[in-house]
Amino acid sequence: MIRQVCINCGEEHEADEIVYFCRRCGDLLEIEYDYEELAERLERSDWRSLPLSVWRYRDFLPIRDLSKVVSLNEGGTGLHLCSRLAKVIGLKRVYVKNEGENPTGSFKDRGMTVGVTKALELNMKTVICASTGNTSASLAAYAAKAGLRCIVLVPSGKIAYGKLVQALAYGAEIVQVRGNFDQALRTVIELSERHGEVYLLNSINPYRLEGQKSLAYEVCDQLGGRAPDRVVLPVGNAGNISALWKGFTEFYRLGLVDSLPRMVGVQAEGASPIAQAIKRGSDVVTPVENPETVATAIRIGAPVSWKKALRAIRDSDGTAETVTDEEILEAQSMLARCEGLFVEPASASSIAGLKKMVELGEIDRDETVVCVATGHGLKDPDVMRRVGKPLEADADVQSIERLLGLTRPSRIEAS
Ligand SMILES: *Cc1c(COP(=O)(O)O)cnc(C)c1O
Ligand SMILES: [Zn+2]
Repeated sequence: MIRQVCINCGEEHEADEIVYFCRRCGDLLEIEYDYEELAERLERSDWRSLPLSVWRYRDFLPIRDLSKVVSLNEGGTGLHLCSRLAKVIGLKRVYVKNEGENPTGSFKDRGMTVGVTKALELNMKTVICASTGNTSASLAAYAAKAGLRCIVLVPSGKIAYGKLVQALAYGAEIVQVRGNFDQALRTVIELSERHGEVYLLNSINPYRLEGQKSLAYEVCDQLGGRAPDRVVLPVGNAGNISALWKGFTEFYRLGLVDSLPRMVGVQAEGASPIAQAIKRGSDVVTPVENPETVATAIRIGAPVSWKKALRAIRDSDGTAETVTDEEILEAQSMLARCEGLFVEPASASSIAGLKKMVELGEIDRDETVVCVATGHGLKDPDVMRRVGKPLEADADVQSIERLLGLTRPSRIEAS
């Protein structure tokens, strides 16, 4: 039995009801399972023999008709042990879960494979979202694969070039709206409520978050059936931190891990309503009017899943931290140069946040930490100004030797 349950009043909605907010109180919904039934299904299932991917966890997902699955081979991303980075930061074990390895280059693909499959199950012909970039690229790709019409609203002039190119290439109808992300989101919510045939796939859609929780399952399986001590990730609209926490708690509940990680949400200083609420010890989040940061994927002032995020942070005994744009760009460069992982600025904020917390003495040297690198570095070439310029020389050996200070091989030393 799968239900959509209100996180505030507990009102239950049927799995196939097209509804984005609780019909009784208007709060967010979350997918709930009969966990005893799920445990029994797992005993009969061969899930452990499937390759690491979102659909390895099909028994844990709210899709029963697997013939409808829309997949581009998402998930199964690397959990990279980053020894050189760990040394620089001053920890023993740091892993980076590199979500840039997904089909469209971000973790959004985990959510969209489930969300677009659900759209097909519900017989929808059009999907829609508001986006800071990666959501639109991902939805556009999965809609193309499924043969659905895809409409995307993006804030005018504020979206990274690579992401816009992706969404256009996949054939989405893109509307740049004069306003910020929060206004674009309000508009698509209203559009989907007025037009029942238009299916909304922002992260208020609980089916999307079910796909995203697979990231937590994968981390546990990649660590050999153990949860890390701490998970650090960027927070924008706050769906992903909620999804990951749900994933970890489900594995715990089913006896697949015997501990839970502490969740650390990192926000950019200019767009940090959740971190501010946590630091104040407040139960409510005050929106930021004009969010600003180089990390466009988390430039969000009114996070729609704030309540779920506060719950994930509090229940996990976690925390939230802010980082400056300067710290984000420095972390981006450090991760690329130390570990060969080139991630977009929002993703690097998790590394920057970890570094800051170690410096503040808030993380123990012995902890096993997983940072989530949410998206690929090539998506946002505008920040490339920071990487420096290539050198230039004539195409002859002597010029290159002189330029790079390469000394000429000596015959005497060689013999
Ligand atoms: C969407 C996104 C985020 C933020 O995730 P939320 O679920 O909105 O908190 C962070 N980084 C990247 C690269 C993203 O695409
Ligand atoms: Zn309710």
